[in-house]
Order: sequence, then structure tokens, then C-alpha cells
Amino acid sequence: MTRWLKRLAPVTAALVMLAISGQAWAAPACRNTGSFERWLEDFKREAAAEGISRQAIAAALDGVTFDPSVIKRDRGQGVFQQSFLQFAGRMTGDGRYQNGLKQLKNNAALFARIEKETGVPPPVVAALWGLESDYGAYKGANFSIIRAVATLAYDCRRSAFFRQQLKDAVRIIERGDLRPDQMIGNWAGELGPTQFTPSDYYKNGVDFDGDGRVDMTRSVPDALASAANLLKGFGWQPGQPWLQEVRVPTNLPWHEAGLEVQHPRSQWVKWGVAAAHGKPLLADNLPASLVLPMGRNGPAFLAYPNFKAYTEWNAAIVYATTAAYFATRLAGAPKVSPGNGPVQVPTTQNVQELQRLLIAHRLLTGDVDGRMGAMTRAAVKKAQLKVGLPADSYPTPELMQRLRGGR
Ligand code: CA
Repeated sequence: MTRWLKRLAPVTAALVMLAISGQAWAAPACRNTGSFERWLEDFKREAAAEGISRQAIAAALDGVTFDPSVIKRDRGQGVFQQSFLQFAGRMTGDGRYQNGLKQLKNNAALFARIEKETGVPPPVVAALWGLESDYGAYKGANFSIIRAVATLAYDCRRSAFFRQQLKDAVRIIERGDLRPDQMIGNWAGELGPTQFTPSDYYKNGVDFDGDGRVDMTRSVPDALASAANLLKGFGWQPGQPWLQEVRVPTNLPWHEAGLEVQHPRSQWVKWGVAAAHGKPLLADNLPASLVLPMGRNGPAFLAYPNFKAYTEWNAAIVYATTAAYFATRLAGAPKVSPGNGPVQVPTTQNVQELQRLLIAHRLLTGDVDGRMGAMTRAAVKKAQLKVGLPADSYPTPELMQRLRGGR
């Protein structure tokens, strides 16, 4: 999965189980050749040539062995389709919501200081903390980060990405932040209550409790300030909204929906989009995209420029929308409306068939992976426009029927 792209892996343990942000991997087309030991010696030389101290390299990597269980996890990520409402319902239930409010209250001074330094408001940070680790309560992942990342760097599937991660993991040790034995976390290399990859940790980690070390595994101030710092690096603008639930009219030009389309908020007002609650929608120039995670009959949101920080954090749209929505909840918004429904949620098999049909119609290129990613959504929109259905990028049984018909 694709925290991909920027951050890599499944985010929380729950997500590891769901593999919703994981990529669905068939057997890789690549093969590992050569021994792990020889590979590791080469890697050590390369790290030293890049200026990492021999002492840190030895402390981190001497005696490290290949971990087959990591590869098993990597290959074993299945695809499990969950709709936004299912996922948000599961990840942002009453217990986690109430606990979030409590954490905001108990850590008010810390959150205020983080907002002052980064511009990222407390509910945004608290929501990610809640989703990634249940506010630090989840301690299940028990992998040696160095061993896991070394295994994935040796492995052929994503070696370039994990080579960089491994170098940065060694740099974390070199900088004196953590000892190798303190680097315990996810099989894909993420650690701490905000689930940072080693590269994000090294480059964006903040020592916020002032003890001279970035310790995201044991210091809540370090972990939360680092999360806010990462969002700031993704372009977070202070004082701007990130996501807002809206009501949409039935006659909207549906092809205008999707993160790839932006209009000034005034244009959405002109088309009849209204705030779902609270004050009327401002008819100003703030750019906004209409997000319909379950199509035109499901929940509807306007996503503002700050939403990009969420898709950088995790490219899976269901995760990004859930995290942003949960932050609005902790900031005072009511529960999301399910929309006009009912929405038929496609199964993995449905999505696989859909992808095969889209490929046959030359509307999609690439692999059949059973995931409703950005490419598949874009292809669905093209197909809807082609056959004259409302182009909201969400597949329906009717669209499938039309695609199965004439090619
Ligand atoms: Ca610290």
C-alpha cells in the first residue's frame, strides 16, 4: 500500500490486517539472486561511501539476518475492499472519538505549542494519533526495524525504496536518537505512535521535549510534533480548513467531482452545493474539490488545499478521507450523513472484473489488482462519460452491465 509513494506501508495494525493501504501483491516478477550476507556487505560499503560513520553501520548492521516472515507479510497482503462508511465507522467509533476529546483536553498545552510551531491544529494531530496507534495504546508490532527494512532492501520488489529507508534507519542510530534494540515496530519499517518510516523519522522528526534526541517511540511530544511537522512539510496552511461535509443537489455536473478537479468555493455554491451543518458555505475563492468516496449517493465532502497533506500521508483515498473526517469530528462536526443511498459497495471480485472490462475497453492500462485506486476511478469516470451515466467515478452494477455489453 501506498503510503506509498511517500510513506510506505500499512499504517496501523488494523490497516495491516485490512491491507487497505497495502498493495495487493501477486508473486513479484523479480527474483532474489545472491546471498543476503554478501548483499549486506555491499550495502555497508555504500553507506560508508555516503558518509555514514563506520561505528553506526557496525552497531546497526553487524550480524543482521534475513527475516523470511517479513517477506511473507509483504507478499501476503490481500485486498479487502471497505467502503468509506465501513472503514470510518470502524476506525472512528464512539470510543475512539471520546478518547480523542479526552486526549485533546489532557494534552491541551502540548497541542497548543505544536500548533504555534507548525500551524497544524490540535484535532488534526490527535486524529492521526488515534488512527495510527489508538493514541499510543497499540503496541502490537514487534519487528526489529533494522532487520525488517534490511530484508525488504535486499528483496527485489521495492529494493530502491527500502535501501534509502535502511540508510536513514542507520542515520537515526548515528544521530543518537535510538539504539538498534529500541527500534521496534511494523514489519514494513514504521515505528512509534504516529507510525513514521525511517526516512520520515530522520528527515522530519522533531525533538519536542528538549532532551536532545528525537525519540518517537517513547516521547509523546516528539511523536506528535513530528507528525505535525511532516504535515507542515506537505504544505499545510495555518488557519485554513481541510475537509467539510456538504450536501449535493441531484443535478450536479458529476464529472466535476474528484481530487483532480478544483473550483473556487463560489462555483460549488453556484451549483447548489451547501454546507451539511453549521454556517452556510462561503462563496469565496478558496479552491475546493468535491470528494464522493462512495459516489453521488453516498457521503459528500469539499476537500480544500490542506487535504493534500492527508493524501501525502497516505495515498489511499479511504484512509485519507477518514483521517481528515475524524479531525473534523474532533473539531466539533457531527457524524457524517450516509447520503441518499443505498450504495452498493463493489467486492474485490467486482473490482477485478471492472478492471478487466476497463482494460478491454482501452480505458485503463496496468494490472488487475482489485483496488479502487486513483487510476481505476479515473477510468470509471471515462467509462461513465462514454456510456452516458452520471460520471461520479464510482462503479455501479449498471455501469458493469453496460461495459459487459457492447465493446
Ligand atoms: Ca526528545
